[in-house]
Amino acid sequence: MKFDDYYIAPEIKRNLEGLGFKKPTDIQFKSIPPILKGEDVLAIAQTGTGKTAAFAIPVVSMLHERKTQKRAEGIKCLVMVPTRELALQIAGVFEQISRHMNLKVFCVFGGVEQGPQIAQLEAGIDILIATPGRMFDLVSQGYIRLQRVEILILDEADHMLDLGFIKDIQDLMKFLPRKRQTLFFSATINEKIKKLAYSLVHNAIRIQI
Ligand code: AMP
Repeated sequence: MKFDDYYIAPEIKRNLEGLGFKKPTDIQFKSIPPILKGEDVLAIAQTGTGKTAAFAIPVVSMLHERKTQKRAEGIKCLVMVPTRELALQIAGVFEQISRHMNLKVFCVFGGVEQGPQIAQLEAGIDILIATPGRMFDLVSQGYIRLQRVEILILDEADHMLDLGFIKDIQDLMKFLPRKRQTLFFSATINEKIKKLAYSLVHNAIRIQI
């Protein structure tokens, strides 16, 4: 299987070529087709496996395709992550994969002033990557609106639980549309993580590598 064999936007194939990605990794091979079909996914995958591109490639392709239809402005994909470092890293991967595709990627995280983040949020974001605490603050103040979210991704969900973000995540769910695609990624799995996962996904395809 090569990236060329996938029904993804040709621009993405060019961007992947530019990155030197020739064929999908195991997690990408297993995740890309169900995500493109609109399925919910529950994946157990560690860092270093190519998990970021496993969700970024199909998400960029779907948003690009839908962008040609006339749609209301607003955040279409929300990625929740445990740390600022991971937020920046994931934003970088989305930017590389969506180069020259007119999708706006932005991230927000705590520990810095809100002001500059609020100004950027006015600029029409398609893909937002956020840590749950700052995200909740901005949503509850009305600076981020989530009614147009079509795809919700939780990355390193186990790490988010370890950091005590469970309440923020649960509170944020009230602001998200119930009809959406949810992708849940975790490096490990236990009862607590399963409980959170199954409260968010619907008929998910389970993937373990
Ligand atoms: P991640 O697990 O998302 O942190 O990715 C680990 C590393 O694998 C990153 O440096 C990616 O750039 C790289 N990578 C992801 N997918 C591929 C691929 N299909 N071919 C080659 N390298 C990849």
